[in-house]
Amino acid sequence: MKPAIRLKHTLAALDGRDYTHYQTLLGGYAFERFRLIVQQVPKDPFAPPHAGVYRIQVRRDDVPVVGLEGDTALGRTAFADFLARRFMDACRRIAKGRRGTGRSGLITIEPPGQAILARNSVVVLDAAVEVRCFIGLPAHGRRIDANAAQAMLLEELPAIVDEALSREKTDSRALTRHLDAAADAEALRALLEPLGLVAFVADGASLPRESGPSDRPQLAAPLVPFRAPPSLSITVDLPHAGRITGLGIPKGVTLITGGGFHGKSTLLRALELGIYNHIPGDGRERCVSHHQTVKVRAYAGRAVVNTDIGMFIDRLPFGTDTRAFSTENASGSTSQAAAIVEAIEAGARVLLMDEDTCATNFMVRDNKMQQLVRRDDEPITAFIDRVRQLYREQGISTVLVLGGVGDYFDVADHVIQMVDYQAVDVTLRAHQIAAACPVRRKDEGRVMPFRPCPRIPLADSIDPVNAFGKRSIRAQDRQRLIFGRQVIDLADLEQLTETAQTHAIGSAIEYGKPYMDRHTPLRAVAERVVADMAEKGLDGISDRICGHLAGFRALELAFALNRLRGIQMIQEGCGS
Ligand code: ADP
Ligand code: MG
Repeated sequence: MKPAIRLKHTLAALDGRDYTHYQTLLGGYAFERFRLIVQQVPKDPFAPPHAGVYRIQVRRDDVPVVGLEGDTALGRTAFADFLARRFMDACRRIAKGRRGTGRSGLITIEPPGQAILARNSVVVLDAAVEVRCFIGLPAHGRRIDANAAQAMLLEELPAIVDEALSREKTDSRALTRHLDAAADAEALRALLEPLGLVAFVADGASLPRESGPSDRPQLAAPLVPFRAPPSLSITVDLPHAGRITGLGIPKGVTLITGGGFHGKSTLLRALELGIYNHIPGDGRERCVSHHQTVKVRAYAGRAVVNTDIGMFIDRLPFGTDTRAFSTENASGSTSQAAAIVEAIEAGARVLLMDEDTCATNFMVRDNKMQQLVRRDDEPITAFIDRVRQLYREQGISTVLVLGGVGDYFDVADHVIQMVDYQAVDVTLRAHQIAAACPVRRKDEGRVMPFRPCPRIPLADSIDPVNAFGKRSIRAQDRQRLIFGRQVIDLADLEQLTETAQTHAIGSAIEYGKPYMDRHTPLRAVAERVVADMAEKGLDGISDRICGHLAGFRALELAFALNRLRGIQMIQEGCGS
């Protein structure tokens, strides 16, 4: 460990030299209140932030530990998440920003979204807290700007650390709120199962977002706070918030219906992201869904590997085998069938679907169509004829947004109508209508047990080496994961919320290869990786120390593997 002042002299000697000389900074430096470890320096000023790793270590007795008694895993995660946000804020306020070429002058941290996630940008150890940030060492072209570098490392960085991590500067009430929000959401999620629910949306919750692509809350009026219909209203006690009331969505089949633009998709989106605990102020702090909730959708063009979609689709043209269906280019309906089967295989307990992203022919075949196109000429068994069977045989619930097809009244246990952003329980009325106009459509579900064949991924088919012979695993953005020669398209995994999760899934795919021993099914592989991640932290699944990874579920890891083109999976003893 060198004294921090050495940086001043080292940098002075580098002024005007080529960027590669920044590599001489690698090593540890003792500042007054923290240590800086320059772990990894990028080769040029344009490198993406994850190419540079700068570790800041403070003693734990220097950072606030309010409410962290007990020090549970959940508490540590929420605490780390809180510090990551403070660090980000401090960077925004204190770092002077870009000066020079590329990312010169930036001091940042992997930006956290609305969810309280496990992250390795902040690592909470027993005696210390480590923050991993990015520092864009400044240059003009490739010529080192020593003056700016000195200001960044010796003035801005200590000010940021002080602002973000010192006990005196921390609003302990804000920290407590953050920890309590996570603990309450977790407690609420744990109540779902005993109450026979799949999701809960608290009264007063604020569901709409500021814009389509943004997950931030809409703050501008008009904003209708959520209110549960009395018949589905449930009251629960939370450890910190105390008694709260809200909509409990029961197990079974639930239909969310209503006119266009009345808030159906917004409610469903809250359920999709209810697998996460949200930060205070998000509006969805007390909206939770079952941990194993999966949003499925159609996504034409995706690849499918050896998936048994027989219960939805059989007898495709040219005798294509749908019990072991593979394609490089799925259609809308086959992609949706595959997504459901993959979800079941990976352990989903609740499926969410939205008409906005469903294939119509997969959802229903109405009476007129049944008359025109004979059953024998239609390979698809529509979801409407399987949704109850799915619940009956597998206990898998479905929540479905559908504004245009009343046929689902017959198969829904509960029907919720969104009217001017208000939820109304219209179950009785919907069932009356269903009884008064018997659906003339026939149930076309051929008898077939709902037991998709588990698949075993083969490690040899997973290669992180790219066309240039280099190992290449990184997220281009949330939706695109570069893995060797492939770009895995994750756009349809709508429950991934941060690029850091996509990065981490990339690491996890490689990490999981030793578990792929030709015997272990996909689900078990994914669950083992995630169990290791829970035990060892995100660093445990990464090949190097870095700060741009965030936690994810085994489900998403399995789904990402399904989308890796070229992966081979064999079906396990299904005798098809
Ligand atoms: P639907 O799926 O029923 O067509 P959406 O859920 O897409 O409708 O919502 C339509 C619009 O209304 C969106 O712009 C959304 O942000 C907004 N919105 C949804 N819920 C609320 C609410 N509770 N208060 C105010 N605006 C809302
Ligand atoms: Mg919609």
